[in-house]
Amino acid sequence: MKTFAELELLEPLQRALAEEKYETPTPIQAQTIPAALDGRDILGCAQTGTGKTAAFALPILDHLGDPNRKAPPNRPFVLVLAPTRELAIQIGESFATYGRHLRLRQVLVYGGVSQLHQVRALSRGAHVLVATPGRLLDLMNQGYITLDMLEIFVLDEADRMLDMGFLPDLRRIISKLPKNRQSLFFSATMPPKIMDLSRSLLHNPVSVNVTPETTSVERIEQRVLFVERSGKRDLLRQILSADDVDRALVFTKTKRGANLLSEQLLKSGFKSAAIHGNKSQGARQRALEAFRRKTVQVLVATDVAARGIDIDGITHVVNYDLPIEPESYVHRIGRTGRAGAEGIALSFCSASERNELRAIERFIGQRVPPAADQPQPTAPEPEKSSSGGRRDASFRRPAASRPAAATRPATEAAEGEGQSKPRRRRRKPRARARQTS
Ligand code: AMP
Repeated sequence: MKTFAELELLEPLQRALAEEKYETPTPIQAQTIPAALDGRDILGCAQTGTGKTAAFALPILDHLGDPNRKAPPNRPFVLVLAPTRELAIQIGESFATYGRHLRLRQVLVYGGVSQLHQVRALSRGAHVLVATPGRLLDLMNQGYITLDMLEIFVLDEADRMLDMGFLPDLRRIISKLPKNRQSLFFSATMPPKIMDLSRSLLHNPVSVNVTPETTSVERIEQRVLFVERSGKRDLLRQILSADDVDRALVFTKTKRGANLLSEQLLKSGFKSAAIHGNKSQGARQRALEAFRRKTVQVLVATDVAARGIDIDGITHVVNYDLPIEPESYVHRIGRTGRAGAEGIALSFCSASERNELRAIERFIGQRVPPAADQPQPTAPEPEKSSSGGRRDASFRRPAASRPAAATRPATEAAEGEGQSKPRRRRRKPRARARQTS
């Protein structure tokens, strides 16, 4: 397997990666980075949790590495489009982390907050612009963003964008991109509509596919717990009381359900917060930050709000309500077991949710085994301390003996691509040429 050094990234990037303790590229990185450095378009089929942000951020930062290259006002060199604010913020954080030893400016643009600061930041120049489609179009229409100097375009989570009804916005944005550019396109799934969109964007792309065996789902210990609706709350409290539940992300079907559950957990002594679409951007960010810092142990979320949450060290994902869309199950449980870590996903299934469970099992192509020794709900409300002693083997982290994601078979797919030969760095001249024009 290739190391980051063998990928020939700029020294300041190598340093940042070493500081982050990244040792080996994940499969999507091993396959994407060399082709992207060569200036090729990429069609990447991968979910979050596979390391795909670094797969596009690293070659982009490498491309922008020239310290003397100033970013002109309102005309970014790189545009990364993401479906949600949360994901845009996380992508921005990744660029800041990997690019910390490069002097580059990045600007984030998303809706739900005043545009004032964003407009000001754009006027000071941005090498990289990370944006959600709605606000981007809005600012383009007001003349605050022009894409004529764009060199690299990234479309992240394309399938989510389409699910969220962004296709018309996307088409408008794409029509404003300069023809002479590099495009990197990522989607967790590749249904026909996504393939159509990719064809309209990409020129002779390198296809990179991280097979399901290597995505996070395979690394996650999944269990189903059969429980009546009325017993769910009590069961959750028992699970959360186990010693090894460091950070738990709990999914409910509705925003109201998320609020209610979080309040009840707080009353029972758990440090809990809720995030969902009705919360302001500030409140969502504060909750995420508290969860990241571990001042909040339990984050109760709805699907939309949790999309793309990238917080390392989520030990447990609990599906308090099963999702209607089986695909959401994969997105939910992918929040744990990030980047080689292992995680546990527990799904509560009441009698009325059996159909949802069957649909999920069909979708993931495997049975979700029942928890071997499920704690039985008890009638009175146990306080955290009183039930804390209950430790259930099936809720503990799996033994560390399993191989980490980064070293699992996905790389084998990459090895078939003739990567054993040392790759000479060859820049596509077109992107560079633009600067002089
Ligand atoms: P992503 O799929 O981009 O959301 O990345 C998932 C997580 O993996 C993030 O927390 C990254 O910080 C982490 N990560 C990405 N690449 C690597 C790597 N090569 N080694 C270790 N961790 C990584």
